Amino acid sequence: MAKIVIIGTQWGDEGKGKIVDLLTPYFDNIARYQGGHNAGHTVCVKGTQFILHLIPTGILHPGKKCIIGNGVAVDPQALIKEMDELKREHIDFSRRFFVSDRAHMIMPYHLLADQQAEKKMGQRKIGTTGRGIGPAYIDKMARTGLRMGDLLEPDKLAEQLKVNLTVVGNVRHFAEIYPQYLEYAQKLIPYITDASLLLNQAMDKGESVLFEGAQGTMLDIDHGTYPYVTSSSACAGGACTGLGIGPTRIDGSLGVVKAYTTRVGNGPFPSELHGAEGEALRNKGAEFGATTGRARRCGWFDAVVVRYAVQINDIKSLAVTKLDVLDGYDKIKLCVGYELNGKRIDYFPANIKQVEDCQPIYEEMPGWRCSTKGITDYNRLPEATRFYLKRIGELTGAEISLISTGPERDETIFCSGTLLDGWLNRIVG
Ligand code: GDP
Repeated sequence: MAKIVIIGTQWGDEGKGKIVDLLTPYFDNIARYQGGHNAGHTVCVKGTQFILHLIPTGILHPGKKCIIGNGVAVDPQALIKEMDELKREHIDFSRRFFVSDRAHMIMPYHLLADQQAEKKMGQRKIGTTGRGIGPAYIDKMARTGLRMGDLLEPDKLAEQLKVNLTVVGNVRHFAEIYPQYLEYAQKLIPYITDASLLLNQAMDKGESVLFEGAQGTMLDIDHGTYPYVTSSSACAGGACTGLGIGPTRIDGSLGVVKAYTTRVGNGPFPSELHGAEGEALRNKGAEFGATTGRARRCGWFDAVVVRYAVQINDIKSLAVTKLDVLDGYDKIKLCVGYELNGKRIDYFPANIKQVEDCQPIYEEMPGWRCSTKGITDYNRLPEATRFYLKRIGELTGAEISLISTGPERDETIFCSGTLLDGWLNRIVG
């Protein structure tokens, strides 16, 4: 039974939510391994839109086991709120939803620290969502963090909380925060478990797992456009450390890629479209954050970025999303390389200053004037669209296995005979 990781290949918001939701029926377990409630995965089911921030998208499918791994930073209040909202939609959590006892908790002082740090940074601010996720990871690395498992031990929780509040000069808030977290404990204890053990035992029994990544490769703490990144490991490797499983248990990575490029917040973006062109793409693609409502910066497809993501995640299979958003363009551009200091390069530099200086080198191709919205058969795509997809495959070195032509589950093309077909045991034909 397959174990595959779903990875964003750009700066997040690639449409991972829809892809995970679409593939969930083929898997027994859906596991989140990093990030926090800064993620916003949007899934449309028969006209109803669900936005999931912390809980794996698989929860929308009855009977599927959903796991939040140790690599996720959990704000208990946000988790309870999201659970309550889903329960109101009659989503059942009992005996199929689990949170790792090793996952670090976001505390109220993390939120404050996040917001204050962004203010102090001024021009150089990262553009975080201000939800305390970065500071929670800082405490994890400083070995002063509080974990979900601490909710099971109120005395230990009290002791460490007092120390932490003293350090941040906020000890008078103990009387407020401690009872609040005891209350969260009451609600969350039934779900807290050793998630690594649970998952490894499930795999030993032959169960399949879909590892659900949040954000994207270019936002990864190590491999992204540092310092304009998120504070966790959004790449494939994060699935191992963020869930406590060995790398050889994973069969492969499916990269989710938008047919163009977007990014939220600050940081370099070589193929960005500015002014009216950027705004037109933003409006066509409804590129506004699911979590924050922030307008996303938009630009042409950047093959250098995606090739880099293919390399560091060993992506063999790609799911191309939002293809329909490119309908109606006379000409479409693909960034195939960069010019840096008068020289052509085809790799993504580590040095942020160099990335800022990179000028995109474009290949221009004819667009398609007709609609691809909702097409489910590859052969019914216009010739120019098929050419565009073929070029994406060639330039990135990965096979295109899935194509999304609209937000709904059924607005999808499953390309037959692909590696993904094999992983899903689909009948090819
Ligand atoms: P994620 O964080 O990677 O899951 O991405 P988001 O959920 O933030 O953004 C994807 C948005 O695009 C959501 O509103 C989806 O409903 C929508 N979407 C996903 N696939 C398609 C597609 O193929 N076409 C169109 N038009 N919208 C899509």
